[in-house]
Amino acid sequence: MNFLPGQLHWRILLGIVIGMMIGLFLNQTANEELVAIAVPVLDLISGIFLRLLRMIVVPLIAASVFIGVTSVGNSAVLAKIGYRTMAYYLFTSLTAILTGLVFVNLLRPGVGANIDMGDMAGADVTTPDSVVDLILRVIPTNPVQALATYDMLGIIFFMIFLGVFSLRIGADKTGALQSFMQNIYDVSLAIVEFVIQLAPIGVLCLVAKLVQSTGIEVFIPLLKYVVVATIALAFHMFVNLPVIYYAITRRSPFRFMSRMAPALLTAFSSASSAATLPLTMSCAKKGGVSQKTTTLVLPLGATVNMDGTALYEGLAVLFIAQVLGVELTIFQQMVVLITALMVSIGAAGIPHAGLVMMVIILEAVGLPIEATGMIWAVDRVIDMMRTSVNVWSDSVCAAVIDEMVDHEEADLPASA
Ligand code: ASP
Repeated sequence: MNFLPGQLHWRILLGIVIGMMIGLFLNQTANEELVAIAVPVLDLISGIFLRLLRMIVVPLIAASVFIGVTSVGNSAVLAKIGYRTMAYYLFTSLTAILTGLVFVNLLRPGVGANIDMGDMAGADVTTPDSVVDLILRVIPTNPVQALATYDMLGIIFFMIFLGVFSLRIGADKTGALQSFMQNIYDVSLAIVEFVIQLAPIGVLCLVAKLVQSTGIEVFIPLLKYVVVATIALAFHMFVNLPVIYYAITRRSPFRFMSRMAPALLTAFSSASSAATLPLTMSCAKKGGVSQKTTTLVLPLGATVNMDGTALYEGLAVLFIAQVLGVELTIFQQMVVLITALMVSIGAAGIPHAGLVMMVIILEAVGLPIEATGMIWAVDRVIDMMRTSVNVWSDSVCAAVIDEMVDHEEADLPASA
């Protein structure tokens, strides 16, 4: 099944490059018949790849959170992992938003930008749920429905409960449930291993389809914005997060990054951290992160920890304000910071979720919500980058928490 030669991450990278070339060719060619044949083929192959990944997400998360909780076993240790994970999410998301705000304030890409406001009419301005709804939605009223409707937070919430309370009914009764879940987890990962082989050709088709439909003309008026967003996201990915990784683990962040590369590149091509989750878990396991941490931290991270999205929200809202000639005060920028954090927690791990959710921030600072229309044309490319940052932050979190848990266990007396 090796469509391209070399190691997996190089094959995926090659797939991206070839996909770009094919997409550009199809975008420019006058041969409409060829395009009419090629596009459905690209749709089919990329669709098979993404659907296979999505197919495995629900059983993988459900089993994984359960065995994560039961393998920690002790609710005090579980709470410790939980607090630390939350602290990591908060810290890195806030760092990401501040990084975005610093770059957009320094480089001011929106000042003097000549952007076609006519596009605004086509904007998707459906208002997302309120913050109260977002909080309540975490508790599923029907766990089976949560599983059936892909409600990630609902599944995680229920599985944590199931795990914690199954420990309280006695080891004899829990054992069967535990080995059942462990088997589901192992089989799901085995399926992921199989699907991973399709990644190079899958991402090739995803990228070709994207470039074919977008072209490069749309970038010209928004070039400065795309460049500033790229610099800020790259800074968080290659400076902020590696520093955190190194500070805690004392190992090379770039070696870990290369282990995570298949997941990061798939995140880039699919713009969906939820669809990438099976790959993220498989790569983290191969990258040396223990099952205990992988199973707990990664499903939660893919759902609520989105550094790339958080960074992008603040940056894009300030860009819109600059284009509209509105100067946001420091107080308003604080409102942007807080709402961007909430939006990044609430956004789903699917393409464009961050842009749709931006309405909450625009409303909070009194900017017109239709203004998201001006950045729709280039959102997909920025989405690809922010999704990779989202997945990278989750991976660093898993490694960092793993290191901390390992240390504490090593410090315990042998009898404990
Ligand atoms: N596409 C992103 C993700 O899946 C969410 C976003 O739109 O920012 O992580």
